[in-house]
Amino acid sequence: MRTTESGPPSGGERAAHLAAALTRLEQRIDAACRAAGRERDSVRLLPVTKYFPASDIEILYQLGRREFGESREQEAADKVASLGRLSQVRWHMIGRLQRNKAKSVVRWADTVHSVDSDRLVRALDTAAGAARDEGVRTNPLRVLLQVSLDRDPTRGGVGPDDLAALADQVEATENLQLGGLMAIPPLGMDPDSAFAELAGLHRTLLRAHPGASELSAGMSGDLEAAVRHGSTCVRVGTALMGERPITSQ
Ligand SMILES: *Cc1c(COP(=O)(O)O)cnc(C)c1O
Repeated sequence: MRTTESGPPSGGERAAHLAAALTRLEQRIDAACRAAGRERDSVRLLPVTKYFPASDIEILYQLGRREFGESREQEAADKVASLGRLSQVRWHMIGRLQRNKAKSVVRWADTVHSVDSDRLVRALDTAAGAARDEGVRTNPLRVLLQVSLDRDPTRGGVGPDDLAALADQVEATENLQLGGLMAIPPLGMDPDSAFAELAGLHRTLLRAHPGASELSAGMSGDLEAAVRHGSTCVRVGTALMGERPITSQ
């Protein structure tokens, strides 16, 4: 929602705004779960804080949130460094990732949602191994494979035909853990059919990799459809934070 005020709102106003938006969003997810006949605790909300200041993350932390999604590596690394005092936060990298950012991302991310190539898998495995040797991280890096449902490689994601091989490759690494799948419905594709196809791919993946239970699907505009089709993690920016200050992508 656009606001009419010119300057940034004061801290108290912003906190009240985020608290109200979070309540509305939780109600929306509750309703989506009820409509789908699913338990509320089978779907996690991942607030997406890209383009918003670290002070917003602090407010959300005060409101009880402990997981945050970011999509630009450098911006995220800076925010994580400035928020080091917040304990027990799990950070998620959800945007496209260049291989040359692997070394940096493994220093702050718990999970990367956007893994889509064998070269990126190798780079992340090597980087995560080095970070563990240095003691910068203790656990393996959890990765989700991003699926391209329209098979358009320019928008990121691995095509359905290459998914099984990539999953096997992740399982064979030492420092990565296969968490599941992620997708963004292609522009112009009905979200219900996109998420139905994704759910089918997830069922197939689970037969070979029973631990890969995460299905990261659904954003501000389509989370109900994603929940209907088995999403376990909705990544919500706009409906919580408001319009992003500058357009992404
Ligand atoms: C920005 C972003 C989101 C959040 O999108 P909204 O429509 O603002 O909720 C979700 N997933 C990814 C990968 C994103 O980059």
